[in-house]
Amino acid sequence: MSDCIFCKIMAGEIPSKKVFENEHVMAFLDISQVTKGHTLVVPKQHVKDIYELTPEIASNLFEVVPSIASAIKETYEPVGLNLLNNNGEKAGQSVFHYHMHLIPRYGKGDGFG
Ligand code: 5GP
Ligand code: ZN
Repeated sequence: MSDCIFCKIMAGEIPSKKVFENEHVMAFLDISQVTKGHTLVVPKQHVKDIYELTPEIASNLFEVVPSIASAIKETYEPVGLNLLNNNGEKAGQSVFHYHMHLIPRYGKGDGFG
C-alpha cells in the first residue's frame, strides 16, 4: 500500500533498524522504544489487523517469532518479554498494517506497564 509507513519501510523507502528478514516477514526496532530492544514483527503482505490476517500469513509470522524473541533475549538480556498486538484505534493501533510488538522487560520501573 502506497501510503503505509510499514510497507515503505519494507520497500526500503524509509530507513529502519532491521532485526530480521525473510521472504514473508520483517522485524525492526520500534522508532519509539518503550523499553530497550522493543521490536516490531511485520508480515510483508499488507493486512490491516488481526481480522485480515489469513492463516498463511499468521503461520509465516509466528514461525519466526520464537527465534526473534530468543535473539532479543540474547542481545538485551531482559528478565521477561511481552508480546502485544493492538487492533483498532480504540485499542491503541496507530499503524494500520498488522504488527506484533515484542517488548523486553527489565523489572520494576522499566517504563512499560
Ligand atoms: P501500534 O500503536 O499501531 O500498535 O504500533 C505502531 C508502532 O509503530 C508504534 O510503537 C510506533 O512507535 C511505531 N512506528 C511508527 N512509525 C514508525 C517508523 O517510521 N519507524 C519505526 N521503526 N517504527 C514506527
Ligand atoms: Zn502496509
